[in-house]
Amino acid sequence: SKLGGPGNVCHFYDETIAKLLDREERLNDLFEASLRNHDFQIYLQPKVSPSGNRPCEAEALVRWVHPQEGMIYPSEFIPLFEKNGKICKLDLYMFEEVCRLEDRWIREKKTVSRISVNISRFHLREAGSDIWKKYKKILDQYHIPEGIIEMELTETMFLEENQVPFVKAILDGFRSCGLRVALDDFGFAYSSLSMLKEFAVDALKMDRSFFVNENDKSKKIVVSIIQMAHNLEMDVVAEGIEDQEQVEMLKNMGCDLIQGYVYSRPLPVGEFEIWRQENRGC
Ligand code: C2E
Ligand code: MG
Ligand code: MG
Repeated sequence: SKLGGPGNVCHFYDETIAKLLDREERLNDLFEASLRNHDFQIYLQPKVSPSGNRPCEAEALVRWVHPQEGMIYPSEFIPLFEKNGKICKLDLYMFEEVCRLEDRWIREKKTVSRISVNISRFHLREAGSDIWKKYKKILDQYHIPEGIIEMELTETMFLEENQVPFVKAILDGFRSCGLRVALDDFGFAYSSLSMLKEFAVDALKMDRSFFVNENDKSKKIVVSIIQMAHNLEMDVVAEGIEDQEQVEMLKNMGCDLIQGYVYSRPLPVGEFEIWRQENRGC
């Protein structure tokens, strides 16, 4: 027939798999050289105070800008590097790049915006409860004021009850060296409120899922999360906000910071510096 026999279908399938595996293998092979060449770059996405009563902050998001392969997004390479353990090196590299940037802003007497950095839960599991010591070692090489860098951990790390002492040691470790701690993707999966009673956290990042297909219920939940966070003296960030209507709503609810395309996509550092200069209150 025109479509060919099942053999052809299989052949096509094999070829697709093979291409994917080729790509994976190539990305793996490129990793070390790319680290040395600074092909992994910090992009900064602004977090903006909707009421304008505090300066903007930013989240550091990695972009792999490869001279031959072009721009590669984290959704492609993070899962791959989580599988083979390279994520640990990448997380630490991104952290050091952020330290260097803050240090440079201070030396050049520029505005010093707070920046948050992501840590993979695979990295946490791999490195154990002393993980914060690796970060401290890097931090000590720069002059970074307290509270200016924030570590983003996802709530799934806090999942199991018997993980409490483990996670507590990590959070306390980070905070003892002047790093803030934020709970990323809060409310996405297993969000257990009881963990908030165990851990010292500086900020909650409400997951995007609250704001896509929102309804009356999700609005009430968001109001309650903001109130709870404030009672516990945490900042609240809404992420993935795309339209102005939601900004107005969150502003009225007292949400501290908003991150999303409504303000800006993640920007290369130079563009972020221009952006914050042109936007009042940043
Ligand atoms: P995340 O930490 O939850 O980051 C938020 C993601 O949402 C980013 O995707 C960001 O570009 C995207 N986003 C921001 N505003 C909007 C919006 O208004 N609408 C929509 N649809 N999306 C928005 P990105 O940069 O592709 O990063 C994806 C994930 O990759 C991050 O999720 C984070 O988990 C991970 N990631 C990024 N950089 C690093 C890193 O240096 N280390 C580790 N371990 N993970 C990282
Ligand atoms: Mg994040
Ligand atoms: Mg998130």
